[in-house]
Amino acid sequence: MAVEYNCILIRFGEIFLKGNNRNYFESLLIKNIKNSLSGLNYKFSKTQGRYYIEEFASEDMDEIISRLTKVFGIHSISPTVKVKTDLEEMCKIAYAISPTEGTFRVTVKRADKRFPMTSMEIGAKIGGYMLNKTGGRLKVDLFDYDFELFVDLRESGYSYLFYDKIMGAQGLPTGCSGNAMLLLSGGIDSPVAGYVMAKRGLRIFAIHYHSFPYTSELALQKVKDLAKKLTAYCGDIKLAVVPFTEIQYAIHEHCPEEFMITIMRRFMMRIAERIALKNDCGAIITGEALGQVASQTMQSIQVTNSVVTLPVFRPLIGSDKAEIIDIANKIDTFDISIRPYEDCCTVFLPKNPVIKPKLQDAIEYENRLDIEALIEKAVNDTVTEVISVED
Ligand code: ATP
Ligand code: MG
Repeated sequence: MAVEYNCILIRFGEIFLKGNNRNYFESLLIKNIKNSLSGLNYKFSKTQGRYYIEEFASEDMDEIISRLTKVFGIHSISPTVKVKTDLEEMCKIAYAISPTEGTFRVTVKRADKRFPMTSMEIGAKIGGYMLNKTGGRLKVDLFDYDFELFVDLRESGYSYLFYDKIMGAQGLPTGCSGNAMLLLSGGIDSPVAGYVMAKRGLRIFAIHYHSFPYTSELALQKVKDLAKKLTAYCGDIKLAVVPFTEIQYAIHEHCPEEFMITIMRRFMMRIAERIALKNDCGAIITGEALGQVASQTMQSIQVTNSVVTLPVFRPLIGSDKAEIIDIANKIDTFDISIRPYEDCCTVFLPKNPVIKPKLQDAIEYENRLDIEALIEKAVNDTVTEVISVED
């Protein structure tokens, strides 16, 4: 008998459901699930502790599962067959959807107390049917099994059968931790940093510093494409594009070459904080990893960090490049990140950037500039657009 899955069961993580916040977290998670499935036809329902997606076109099932596995807060997903409760029918379905060899157990939940058999009896009947059908290739082992077939008899008069468990994205529902401003370059690290923090429930607002005409439209497109990839996990992202060339000229003209990057990064942080505060963001996120480049030594980080008061999250600080690349591949940003376009930081790249900058020196050099006017102009000329999940 060919059986089609006609339902998808969603389990959510337990950690965040404790205490009084449960309703808030759940409504956020449901909203995020619905956003991620926009454009598809389906029916959503919930029972205690679980959600179901039903009434979708069978050809959409893989797409629905693929989108759901990117929604933070979902623990796991199971393709499920929903039928009117009827034991003969359920035996056939159980056999049709299960592997035909190995060890297994049947776990029955009987919420429908009208059904005249106990859970144990139902399990034995279905298990027995499967054993008979496979002539010894399947064996029951209640404790050491290769797969567990679940049969839920619901009060509604319908039963749900499933065994396959696909891991979800885990984490916390996007938005439950508030908003944060991600410094998004075209590189490998910053999209990964955004993903890692979004996983902890942050809604991402992205900011990119653009050095037109030294960096091209294609370089900007790359950043938009990276942001677009992130939307699959964290929903729509507002992207602020800050014109940065004038600030770079000013630093280049008035400050020692080896301090170019240090001072540039202090400007980036200040501008990020300004725009963060205007947009209700409570933190800044960067893709820095300790020791990766001159601007990512402890001393450099201290000097750039000291211009802002918002917390700066650097989720990759202890990661090796290979570990970061693994995540970049998983979230499908790596191939975009390695497209060969100029980054604003490489335009005025000094030959010997200072590795252990002193804060006093940075302050002294940058005081040669009209810091406030430069920042204000850059913030005023910033263009913001929404990168949407949908298009
Ligand atoms: P990435 O791979 O993310 O570009 P990187 O190793 O090249 O990082 P840097 O260029 O030193 O490192 O940048 C460190 C961090 O500063 C980046 O991870 C990013 O968060 C931020 N950053 C750098 N350049 C830009 C930019 N043009 N626009 C926005 N943020 C930037
Ligand atoms: Mg970079």
